[in-house]
Amino acid sequence: MNIAVLSGKGGTGKTFVSVNLAAAAAGSRYLDCDVEEPNGRLFFKPVITKQETVCVKVPVVDHVQCTGCRRCVDFCRFNALAYISGQVLVFTQLCHSCGGCPLVCPTGAISEEDKVIGTVEMGKSEDTTVVTGIMDPGEESGVAIIDQVLRHASNKSTEATIIDCPPGSSCTVMEGIKDADYCLLVAEPTLLSVHNLGMVWELVKTFNKPFGVVINKAVDNVHVVEDFCATHNINVLAKIPFDFKLADFCAKGLIACREDPAYLELFSGLLRCIVEEAQHETTANN
Ligand code: SF4
Ligand code: SF4
Repeated sequence: MNIAVLSGKGGTGKTFVSVNLAAAAAGSRYLDCDVEEPNGRLFFKPVITKQETVCVKVPVVDHVQCTGCRRCVDFCRFNALAYISGQVLVFTQLCHSCGGCPLVCPTGAISEEDKVIGTVEMGKSEDTTVVTGIMDPGEESGVAIIDQVLRHASNKSTEATIIDCPPGSSCTVMEGIKDADYCLLVAEPTLLSVHNLGMVWELVKTFNKPFGVVINKAVDNVHVVEDFCATHNINVLAKIPFDFKLADFCAKGLIACREDPAYLELFSGLLRCIVEEAQHETTANN
């Protein structure tokens, strides 16, 4: 079962929740798709067993064959090509590897070559398989890296794969949730977090995925997330308390549910709840 963990903004506790969910599930897989800041490995400290390079195709222009017609420049919607001083220039960081410019070039002046944009690391931390996507500095899009990380999801319905998605609601997040069986939205009790929760809520609705909310840093006297969820009929699956002990674990790079039985129980309960919710949705849709 693939569980995507999302948050509308960084710093909400998405990686904290993802890491603890994976650590609470026996024989799970943790896939870090937050390729710009893959921090889950700082907690798991996996023993690396394998590394893969991630490449994308980018165009190369043969300036002898190029007639300067600029069709490729007009075609590229990502502004990755420019015609300057009588030459087509390629800005590879902006290229989305759509493969279109070689097709529109009337003289065959454009070919493609591989460009390395990052790596995927595989490793083990106790019985958790840890897969981490790492985007090279200066690259614009991590979609290809996320795709390669997601190939390591378990295909057994009895094994939990936890997908730590990038923050926000951009195309990289969509890539992370497209094959998810369930989406867990992490929010904290602030108005900004509620605003961002609204954005990821719209996203998971668009993808027609079953979902629920977990409130991180929950406090007794602030109910903005609960109020939002009640208004929109969204299920709150669990509340993780505002606890200095958790901050201490995080600061030391420790996984709460490996350190404290109370947190192991909390995250095991959250996992059971997710599985029940996902099964309920599947039954309801059949
Ligand atoms: S491959 Fe696509 S995105 Fe890249 S430069 Fe060509 S047209 Fe633009
Ligand atoms: S489409 Fe081909 S010939 Fe025309 S400017 Fe681009 S590379 Fe040159």
